[in-house]
Amino acid sequence: MIVGEQKPLEEIKAMVAPYDNFLILGCGTCVKTCFAGGEEEVATLASALRLAFGKDGKKTKISELTVERQCEGEFIRQAASLATQNQAVLSLACGAGVQMVASRFPKIPVLPGVNTTFIGILEQPGLFTEKCLGCGNCVLDVFSGICPISRCSKKLLNGPCGGSKNGKCEVNPETDCAWQLIIDRYQAFGETEKLYNYVPPKDWRTADAGGPRKLVREDLMV
Ligand code: SF4
Ligand code: SF4
Repeated sequence: MIVGEQKPLEEIKAMVAPYDNFLILGCGTCVKTCFAGGEEEVATLASALRLAFGKDGKKTKISELTVERQCEGEFIRQAASLATQNQAVLSLACGAGVQMVASRFPKIPVLPGVNTTFIGILEQPGLFTEKCLGCGNCVLDVFSGICPISRCSKKLLNGPCGGSKNGKCEVNPETDCAWQLIIDRYQAFGETEKLYNYVPPKDWRTADAGGPRKLVREDLMV
């Protein structure tokens, strides 16, 4: 999932302060799963902002809505009526969702309420960890299912670097050394000989080095 974290209340408050009324628009998929922008977070944030503006003596009308996904136009349509009744939309989606909403409502300011952080997993309650940089050419098969591009601090394709200590990365001792994990996994299923294979430099053209990317699926086009 895309992992994000709600921005601090003061930052959000400063963003929406110029408006007398605005819609807080939640997203019911990734940001809901990471407790940054689902229905409950929309309600909590709306209450906090009402309280904060009330203390300042400012009258603000805050509408609330959560759609299933802000990155799909089909779901954003449900927000059209409320969005156009308001001076601004505060989106609690990831950066893709915010931009999708902005493209659908070109005459309304759309503000980001979430800091989009990474593609990752829920490792344990309250702990989300990065697992993928979306490089566009997955090579997890070469690395026993552990991604050194997102999980090795030096993005080494031929590791380890030699600085790992007790299985932890020398760059950040709180992080597992990705290459130690790769070695452990290959040992676990008896394929350590693969560690001797040289991995050539990665072709980054499928990553973001070439500018914004597109995925075209003609079979899905109507
Ligand atoms: S190799 Fe690329 S696509 Fe695969 S997990 Fe790593 S960053 Fe993501
Ligand atoms: S210690 Fe491990 S994870 Fe850290 S930079 Fe070196 S090889 Fe990569």
